[in-house]
Amino acid sequence: MKRNVLAVLTAVVCLCSVMSRAQAPAAQPLTAMPYSPSLDVTSLDRTVDPCVDFYKFTCGGWMKNNPIPADQAAWSVYAKLANDNQQFLWGVLEEDAKLTKRTAVQQKVGDYYAACMNTSAIDALGDKPALPALETVNALKTRSELIAALPRLHHQYVGAFLFNSGTGQDAVDSSLIVVEVGAGGLGLPDRDYYLKTDDKSVKLREQYVAYIQKLMTLAGETPEQAKADADATLKIETALATASLTRVQRRNPHNTYHMMSIAELTALAPSIDWPDYFKVQGAPGIAKLNVSQPDFMKAVQAELANEPVEALKGYLRFHMLTAAAPYLAHPFEQANFDFFSTTLRGTPQMPPRWKTCVRAVDRNLGEALGQEFVARTFSADMKAKTQTMTVQIETAMQHEIETLDWMSPETKQEALRKLHAIRNKIGYPEQWRDYTRLEVKPNDYFGDALRSSRFEDARRWAKLGKPVDKNEWGMTPPTVNAYFNPQMNDINFPAGVLQPPLYDPKEDDAPNYGNTGSTIGHELTHAFDDEGRQFDAKGNLRDWWTAADAKGFEDRINCIRDQYAGYVVVDDIHINSKLTSGEDVADLGGTLLAYIAWQKQTAGVKLTDADGFTPDQRYFVGMAQWACENSRPENLRVNALTDPHSPGFARVNGVVSNMPEFQKAFGCKAGQPMVHTPSCRVW
Ligand SMILES: [Zn+2]
Repeated sequence: MKRNVLAVLTAVVCLCSVMSRAQAPAAQPLTAMPYSPSLDVTSLDRTVDPCVDFYKFTCGGWMKNNPIPADQAAWSVYAKLANDNQQFLWGVLEEDAKLTKRTAVQQKVGDYYAACMNTSAIDALGDKPALPALETVNALKTRSELIAALPRLHHQYVGAFLFNSGTGQDAVDSSLIVVEVGAGGLGLPDRDYYLKTDDKSVKLREQYVAYIQKLMTLAGETPEQAKADADATLKIETALATASLTRVQRRNPHNTYHMMSIAELTALAPSIDWPDYFKVQGAPGIAKLNVSQPDFMKAVQAELANEPVEALKGYLRFHMLTAAAPYLAHPFEQANFDFFSTTLRGTPQMPPRWKTCVRAVDRNLGEALGQEFVARTFSADMKAKTQTMTVQIETAMQHEIETLDWMSPETKQEALRKLHAIRNKIGYPEQWRDYTRLEVKPNDYFGDALRSSRFEDARRWAKLGKPVDKNEWGMTPPTVNAYFNPQMNDINFPAGVLQPPLYDPKEDDAPNYGNTGSTIGHELTHAFDDEGRQFDAKGNLRDWWTAADAKGFEDRINCIRDQYAGYVVVDDIHINSKLTSGEDVADLGGTLLAYIAWQKQTAGVKLTDADGFTPDQRYFVGMAQWACENSRPENLRVNALTDPHSPGFARVNGVVSNMPEFQKAFGCKAGQPMVHTPSCRVW
């Protein structure tokens, strides 16, 4: 994955505290996508020596010219493009909401958007839409009643209820879809938030407890009851967090693969009637499943057996309400925003309502809205050009594998087999998802959100027993991001990430290969990073490395881990390079592969200087300018714990300081900061 999407996912709420809902936002819908070039000289800071701090040299101007908007936790070239995509779709949705003659797709997205924009109807309902869920919990009298209700709560309502369940590809046989039960049940973004004892973490837990109390009081609980529910929630979540694997542990796919029979799962958590549980989810009679974290399920059992029933009920009520809050009346939405966006990430203001609603449609009807986006922004020519670039970068990877001096012929053969099996997915799905069975009403925002969630749940459970759908995408077309999926063995580039300034049809090859080419190379390198390399050409978890080659790889990636551990994210918090090493090696490999592809593409062509840069320099400036960013310190603290990506400055300086190609282009000398010793290289 190219960037952290967490900030976008948690900021699903709207309107700032100082702005009334009636007030019109200042921005207007975009009628065309704005243009900025893939190499932008106004983003440079030429007072900085590129051999001392290449990130600042290429992005210093951008950082000065682009302060963080009040509704954002961070601001970056990627975030700005995502915002442009949303502002463009705003106009499309305004139209789709009002048209009298509409296609089925326009009806769904237009009505969903209209329901979200109707804040007077939403406010008038207060917390009424959440009451059926809360009453279901309140009606539970005994421990056995509560435990027996869990399958139905998981099936019917949205929320983190102790653990997660769903379906996914079997890690060892990727042609099979299997049931998975995994860790979950937390309100804070990571297990570490519950376990760290520094002052900031202690204070944050107090603020979390205060948020729970606020929300429960808004829903009509007495202050005493709200306090009891908040204390119970923190206690239960701390127990679950203690039993959860760390993010670094979860990066090793062997740690989360434990195929079991129902009897074995029952031995871990005997309180739950598992055959009934899976029957209710729509998967009756399954014989085995992956229990990704067996110790976690023991903790779930301990909580269900030992916590007072009233404490468990308080925990469930809170999770129902916090999941519902963004779709309820303004005070609920505001309380949710105040904690998750302001306290946690430092964002001062809610986004304008249109932005909240465009994001909601993208989240729940992404492949319907995506059709509207692709038709207007992604030409056949752009698709063809980026497809060609992808093939060229794969050819560069083939050359790299063939000429590696540290890898044996046997391992190389397997690596090439894997490379040749990778499927390239560019722009949008070949077949669009069918939303016919999802009912969308123009005046029922909460209902639309709940029905969407159930629709998505049913879609996932229905995969059981069917062949894997290789056409499926994990991101929507307007998304400004890309990903590699190790089990599908495919690389995916939504239309949203193939727009200026990232891919710029008006610019020549140098900055485009530097920027989008490096992104393509980044995703491709994920197939061979410390996590991806454990999967084979079929997407199966299988060790295809000789022991000596595996050691050769680990020695080389440890060079990168040591280098990045030296960078500071914020305060005195260093990069957790065991968490980021997959992304770090993808950044380095991607930049190198795109450079090789660009050289081959332009071989024999007389390239000229421009803007005071040689062609090689323009390649590297184009590469670096994808990463320009500003971030609030609160947001950096969350990222340091949760984000597998390094901060922008490290993603640029960490890469170029390992590349003699860069050092030659800018005349950097040994001893300067952009010359890392030893020079790390994996691929
Ligand atoms: Zn990545």
